[in-house]
Amino acid sequence: MAGETDETDETDETEEPQRVPGQPMTMIDSRSIPALTASQMREVDRIMAEDLHIELVQMVENAGRSLAELALRRFRPATVTVLAGPGGNGGGGLAAARHLANRGAGVRVTLSHAGSDLGAVPAHQLDIVTRMGIPVSAEPRPAVLVVDALIGYGLRGDPGGRTAELIDWANTQASAILTLDNPSGLDVTTGRAGTPCIRATATLTLALPKTGLAGAGETGELFLADISVPPAVYRRLGLTVPPLFDHDTIIELHSPCRTHPESPGSGSQARARKLQALQTSMTERTPAMDEQTDVVVIGMGPGGEDAAGRLAEAGLHVTGVEARLVGGECPYWGCVPSKMMIRAAGLLAEARRVPGMAGTSRVTPDWAPVASRIRDEATDSWNDKVAVDRFTGKGGHFTRGRARITAPGRGHGGDGRRRAGFPGAHRGTRRTGQPRRPGLHREACRR
Ligand SMILES: Cc1cc2nc3c(=O)[nH]c(=O)nc-3n(C[C@H](O)[C@H](O)[C@H](O)COP(=O)(O)OP(=O)(O)OC[C@H]3O[C@@H](n4cnc5c(N)ncnc54)[C@H](O)[C@@H]3O)c2cc1C
Repeated sequence: MAGETDETDETDETEEPQRVPGQPMTMIDSRSIPALTASQMREVDRIMAEDLHIELVQMVENAGRSLAELALRRFRPATVTVLAGPGGNGGGGLAAARHLANRGAGVRVTLSHAGSDLGAVPAHQLDIVTRMGIPVSAEPRPAVLVVDALIGYGLRGDPGGRTAELIDWANTQASAILTLDNPSGLDVTTGRAGTPCIRATATLTLALPKTGLAGAGETGELFLADISVPPAVYRRLGLTVPPLFDHDTIIELHSPCRTHPESPGSGSQARARKLQALQTSMTERTPAMDEQTDVVVIGMGPGGEDAAGRLAEAGLHVTGVEARLVGGECPYWGCVPSKMMIRAAGLLAEARRVPGMAGTSRVTPDWAPVASRIRDEATDSWNDKVAVDRFTGKGGHFTRGRARITAPGRGHGGDGRRRAGFPGAHRGTRRTGQPRRPGLHREACRR
């Protein structure tokens, strides 16, 4: 395959994720903004490039940079394998490979097509990647994170050939899969999954969500990145889009309990069938996680962690699922950091009262020690290892990811590597001598 380089890098792909600590992200309800069909997105791209001269290379760069940013914020991967296709989507993946390598990740690239078959923009990105010495290998290597940048919204028919092989390879990895714009193989307009189709842990879609994404089980967690589409472009398409990226260039989209707006071609029966198929496929492909458990606690904030810990100590088989950090908002963003800030302000105010009462003082405020105390002493750089160990030390089982209740007593959650199926809360597989807790199977949606 053209564009290949020798595999000289000796990165240890078994290394644990350890990069930038998890950071809060703006989250909005996906139903509050419009979603685009593939042809509407094509029109957005056309207006951008032809009418406004915002070149594809600029959009690809924005996409790639955001993809790398999300990879670091969400997964903190020590090693990444980027699967790149021949079009703009592949170009974004290759740009992300560069940004991830710049930030210290061990990155490898595998192309679905020969380098000579790449479009101008991905070829340009590949040239940079190759000059930087980032390994480009014919065979993909296992890594903590797989980035899927094989096929974008232009999919026609089922993926085939080498692209299909790489999709199958990714789906069999234990790694998390972060996909660019849409899971490769998914029809972004209808949400129909082709054969094969990437089953993503998270999807970073661009500009606006696509109509088929929110309802598709293959999407995983859904994030949205700014590729600098001017509001006038949306107005030309008759769309009203609120300001989305005032505070950040990446936001998280959520659909409460995954009750999605209807997408073309999907009625409630179709959605039910899709859900059934998803549950079946989750069970089939994650036998290790399909263990029975007494209780699933979704959200390990102060409330969830306390409940889960007590139940585990009482001898129940408890699975705690947390999308962000065990401990919740209180220790990392709420109670503790705010009290440290208030304490610092109080000290400054008190010290200013010394003159006239107890002698002299000169007060020079400095944010740096406050910030470093919050980072180092209170939050451990927003690392929840201690909290996770606290829970597992009580006998609890921990899973990182966003959980969903899919039916009474059934749900699925994520482990930070792959979303996994579990039979749900309170399956009645108590260890001997444990009383059954009535009501624990009640359906709940935390968001
Ligand atoms: C600035 C500030 C200061 C505060 N100061 C104080 C104080 O001094 N004293 C005090 O008592 N309280 C204080 N609070 C409030 C306190 O932080 C909250 O009351 C407390 O964190 C609530 O705990 P919780 O477990 O209910 O929810 P959270 O702490 O919000 O935890 C919920 C967890 O669930 C996770 N989650 C949600 N959905 C899912 C899903 N589908 N799958 C997996 N995981 C999921 C989230 O990631 C989160 O970690 C403060 C809050 C703020 C913002």
